[in-house]
Amino acid sequence: MTEKLKILFVASEATPFVKTGGLADVAGSLPQAIKEMGHDIRLVIPEYRQIALEYLQQAEHLLHFRTKLGWRDNYVGVNKLENRGVISYFIDNKSYFDRPNLYENDDKHLQFAYFCQAVLEMLAQIDFKADIIHCNDWQTGALSIMLKENYQKYSFYKDIKTVYTIHNLRYQGVFGREVLQDALSLPDKYWDLGVVRHDNCVNYMKMGIEMSDIVTTVSRTYAQEIKTPEFGEGLDYAMRMNSNDLYGIINGISYEDNNPSNDDRIYSNYSVEKLRGKYENKRRLQEDMGLAQRSDLPVIALISRLVDQKGLDLIVSVIDKLMEEEIQFIILGTGDSYYEERFKETARSYPTKIAANIKYDATLAQKIYAGSDIFLMPSKYEPCGLSQLFSLRYGSIPIVRETGGLKDTIQAYDEISGEGNGFTFASYDANEMLSTIKRAISLYQQKDIWTKLVRRAMKSNFSWKNSAKEYIKLYYKLLEK
Ligand code: ADP
Repeated sequence: MTEKLKILFVASEATPFVKTGGLADVAGSLPQAIKEMGHDIRLVIPEYRQIALEYLQQAEHLLHFRTKLGWRDNYVGVNKLENRGVISYFIDNKSYFDRPNLYENDDKHLQFAYFCQAVLEMLAQIDFKADIIHCNDWQTGALSIMLKENYQKYSFYKDIKTVYTIHNLRYQGVFGREVLQDALSLPDKYWDLGVVRHDNCVNYMKMGIEMSDIVTTVSRTYAQEIKTPEFGEGLDYAMRMNSNDLYGIINGISYEDNNPSNDDRIYSNYSVEKLRGKYENKRRLQEDMGLAQRSDLPVIALISRLVDQKGLDLIVSVIDKLMEEEIQFIILGTGDSYYEERFKETARSYPTKIAANIKYDATLAQKIYAGSDIFLMPSKYEPCGLSQLFSLRYGSIPIVRETGGLKDTIQAYDEISGEGNGFTFASYDANEMLSTIKRAISLYQQKDIWTKLVRRAMKSNFSWKNSAKEYIKLYYKLLEK
């Protein structure tokens, strides 16, 4: 089949408009890659207060209408913006999305029930008869069930299929039973059938898994892992029951937006062939971080949400031993106050070795990818992970734990064959991590070997091209079903 696909990609965040994590990178770049392959894919996100003003100003008001969800009568504004060839829609409703926070709201069950319904209603209003609606994470988990229950009786919606991608199974959107009727306006039968219910609660993630035609997640290994109790976040039984329709496709990153040879966020540009700029990035980064400008010391970086998932307890537990090494350690992250405080404290204890930046700063992140030598990512679990892909692209060698997408993207350096693009360890064990870091540090001192490793890492290819092809193949397969 060669005909052009029509896809609506629905997400709760997307770059360059608004970002809190990896989902935004995916929603910002996958549609573009699919579009470049000749398909009509469009993006829709909520119009949050946090969307950068320049985009809000550029967007044109397309239309508005009212919609009823249970007893609620809601305004839906649809604003449209074309960004790099991809038509993007913003769903505007100030009472739901003009908030200080994207996700930390007491009525988030209502915000995202509203969003899913507004998206479905919008389709008919703009006359975009999508072949497939591609939903992402719990915020869009209610869309498939609403489509099936309330819309597929109309011919416009009858043939629309749904894909649901899990970016992180931990965040499920768990609410009381009353939400089924009050927020989603769905009949009790769904509760009785169990498709919306988990642990006696309404679970938006489970709804997406049960009611979508195909479920995907963001790496092959994670697709296997989530069928087990260790990684299944309580929903492993649902993953096993749906395993015939469960696929793992690794994420890519935009190689245009993340290119050390023309990235204007970094101090100096460089490439695989001309690495000199990378050393200048390191020097300037050290200067900005208040660390000694020493090229002989490896700079280890951590850029992360500061949450348990990221394996930070391993780092905290061996930080004193790590500081016995001749290294510098640059941290950028925000999250749980426990980790924020630990890292601030350790930076106070080792001011010449650690720089702790407890904030969210996308430009600084880029400077750190470019200026560091080693990128530490010892995650407890990792659906895909993008940070290790950015670090490869900028020649900062990843040290990762072998889980999820980290296992699928980082091959351990083999001293005999010279192959590999990073360092890995298997057990969730601080000493194993520490000895892997020590191995990397000692290799760093062998300049020729290290430079070869940096070049090989930079040559690893995790652009979207291959993964976009896999999604397209899957879309066709779904339409033929
Ligand atoms: P997750 O989605 O679980 O947070 P990923 O590795 O998939 O993890 O994606 C994280 C993204 O967020 C990367 O682009 C990373 O550079 C970015 N990031 C994380 N923390 C920060 C921060 N404090 N400042 C800037 N960027 C950050």
